[in-house]
Amino acid sequence: MLNDRVGGEGSSSSSSAQAASADHHQLEPQPPPAAAAAQPSRYESQKRRDWNTFGQYLRNQRPPVGLPQCNYSHVLEFMRYLDQFGKTKVHGQGCPFFGQPEPAGPCACPLRQAWGSLDALVGRLRAAYEENGGSQETNPFANGAIRVYLREVRDSQAKARGIPYKKKKKRRKPNNSSNDQGMSSTTFHQMHQSPGV
Ligand SMILES: [Zn+2]
Repeated sequence: MLNDRVGGEGSSSSSSAQAASADHHQLEPQPPPAAAAAQPSRYESQKRRDWNTFGQYLRNQRPPVGLPQCNYSHVLEFMRYLDQFGKTKVHGQGCPFFGQPEPAGPCACPLRQAWGSLDALVGRLRAAYEENGGSQETNPFANGAIRVYLREVRDSQAKARGIPYKKKKKRRKPNNSSNDQGMSSTTFHQMHQSPGV
């Protein structure tokens, strides 16, 4: 049913498919900014992994979504999709542990992506989008709807976990910086193993 080619204009539809993939190529490699020469930082390699994961996600859509067609609603769906790989217990309102920072026992509430992970992810992808040729004006990661969604996630998780969001005071801990805010690489490894279930 989704196959339009059955309809009639055979040759012209195949040429429009080519045009679409050509568009896609325009958005691909651009010379990296002069700075990132030697070895990529942890942030840079995480950003690249995130970008690949997002691209994979778009390609797994039916029908696949090209980068030029990508808008904020794809980003929102992507974030919801990532919840299945989350490691943060978020209690529902019906759960006896709702609002307790340290629950006394197990419960059936789902694991989700922590707000901080999503927030950091969106920041990396927003940068990656523009580094990969996307224009600032159309950057779906910078869309106001994303900010609203993240704020809702933050507030609802804070309530569910009984932890009000506060800006962290910067403490000096040399090795244990903001790593736990990012997604672990195993999360992404998993995702690549099982695309679009
Ligand atoms: Zn619970």
